[in-house]
Amino acid sequence: MTRVWVNDLFLALIFALVAALGISPAAAAETRAPCIVSGVLVDASGETPKVNAAANAEQNWNCKPLTNEPAGGDWTLRFDVAEGETAPTVLYTRLGHFDQLDLAVQDANGRWTYETKTMADMESAIGSPHIYTDLPSSTAPPRRVLAAFTGNGHGPTLTRAELLDEAPGLSDSDVAALLALAALIGVLLIPIALDGAFLLVLRQSFLAWHIGLSVVFAVMIATRANLFGLLMPMSAEVLRVSLIMSMGLGVAVALMFTRSFIEPGKISAKLHRIIPYAAVWTVAVSIIHAASFEVLRPLGGNFHSFSMAVPIIVLVMALVDAWRRGSRSVKFQLFGWAPMFLATFIQIVTHVFPLGVQQDALPIFYIGILSEGIGTALGVADRFLQIRRERDRALRDARELTHLSEHDPLTGLLNRRAVETRFDDLREQGFDTFALLDLDRFKQVNDKYGHQIGDAALTACADAIRGGESRDSIAVRLGGEEFVILLRGKNTRQRAEAFREAVPVRIMHEVEGLDMPVTASMGLIELPRHDTTMMTFHDMYARADMLLYEAKAAGRNRMNYERLTLFAGSPNRRTRKSAA
Ligand code: GH3
Ligand code: MG
Ligand code: MG
Repeated sequence: MTRVWVNDLFLALIFALVAALGISPAAAAETRAPCIVSGVLVDASGETPKVNAAANAEQNWNCKPLTNEPAGGDWTLRFDVAEGETAPTVLYTRLGHFDQLDLAVQDANGRWTYETKTMADMESAIGSPHIYTDLPSSTAPPRRVLAAFTGNGHGPTLTRAELLDEAPGLSDSDVAALLALAALIGVLLIPIALDGAFLLVLRQSFLAWHIGLSVVFAVMIATRANLFGLLMPMSAEVLRVSLIMSMGLGVAVALMFTRSFIEPGKISAKLHRIIPYAAVWTVAVSIIHAASFEVLRPLGGNFHSFSMAVPIIVLVMALVDAWRRGSRSVKFQLFGWAPMFLATFIQIVTHVFPLGVQQDALPIFYIGILSEGIGTALGVADRFLQIRRERDRALRDARELTHLSEHDPLTGLLNRRAVETRFDDLREQGFDTFALLDLDRFKQVNDKYGHQIGDAALTACADAIRGGESRDSIAVRLGGEEFVILLRGKNTRQRAEAFREAVPVRIMHEVEGLDMPVTASMGLIELPRHDTTMMTFHDMYARADMLLYEAKAAGRNRMNYERLTLFAGSPNRRTRKSAA
């Protein structure tokens, strides 16, 4: 079953990898790179909208490609449209949060038109986390577009802004990419069915956490690509909140999953304790970021980025710790998360040492999620098998121990403990005859021939009373040269007597160097078929021992028996006989 499933996964992997590579943010063919200046230089609201005079001074604008993300707050972008270029009609950018967007368009005649927008006016693109809105219409072709953001909270909303000739629709390649994304989500959902099935067999919390992780990642991808937008329009604000929350939940659940997934003892007790707090912190920070509080706005995305470093550091520490302690499970996790860590590393490096390259993490994000899904799913399957193997071994050990603890090592017969603990069951299964057998004058055998010959005689005696394949008699060595035979079915007394008589023959036959006969005496009790007196092993033994004593006293090498009969409302009546 595992083999088939792994094959499916790898097929899906190849399909989704190709797709993930094809999904990069909207093609940049139409890009008109903007210039940027700090502050809001457009006031599009009120009776007399205007462009601030500062916007006319060329030296105020920074028109070089941005190497660092601008901090949050107020910024104005400027797009210049060359003569003869197709007229742009739409401002298109990365999903983020801002309070207000003042747009101003200057046409070829130098006339300005204005419009004020809020997040509520933004449309959500399908296929990637982008938003867009119409530009104010002008009568003559536009030459210059100013976009002034008040209270912007997300750097890429500024650096990734561009003008489009028309509203972004779904091209054929977009549809193909969306289908591939749906397939990627499908891959993430496969483990849910597997985990569910495994959960039925093994109650392990990491299986439940892995279901949670797969669901959160699937939702995260669907949100990023706004797949829900295909079904109903999603407001940019709702998208942004669900993106932040699914990311936060993803990290929190990943932490909890790791904590339960790493084998016991392969993660330090301290980290084990810290992880739940880090998970709660992550969710709390995400809620705060999603709520987009005024006081945090000037920090841009930095508050969120730095706060999210906490769970990431804890996660890395847990993984490194588990690796150092020789965890097997963690290797699958490291394999799965390598692309994600690599992407994060590249982002940090390019942030600290600007290389003039704008890193876009989207494609590597999809690859990372996919690789995580596959690596972890394989790890979970491996861990499942590992746990099952351990459980089977423990069961086998327990069975062996039980066998050892219930058998007599010399003769291989069951021991007293084995029958005593099951005595009620055996009685219910119809074993109604209890025969106590003791070798006669056995001390003399030991004294005369030595302990080894004595042992050989005991073994031969056991062979005589073992009963072969029959399921209707059970032989037990109580200790010393004392045995019990439990019998059920017809003629139990005669069969017990046959066992007793077989003992000297067998000993004589099997034990070399023993030239005196070793006989046995027996005390036997027969209970009525439907006995309700609930005689315990101890009761039976005590009675049989008395009968045995009488047999010894009467000259040994004989059976003494008693049949208990049951009369309604009266105590047991006994018949006693002795047979030699
Ligand atoms: P009787 O029962 O006929 O009255 O006489 P007996 O000599 O058999 O009496 P008793 O039960 O007192 O002696 C039991 C002897 O069995 C004592 C001991 O030397 C011997 N014995 C007990 N366990 C073992 C064993 O595991 N190996 C050997 N070789 N001898 C054992
Ligand atoms: Mg004896
Ligand atoms: Mg004895």
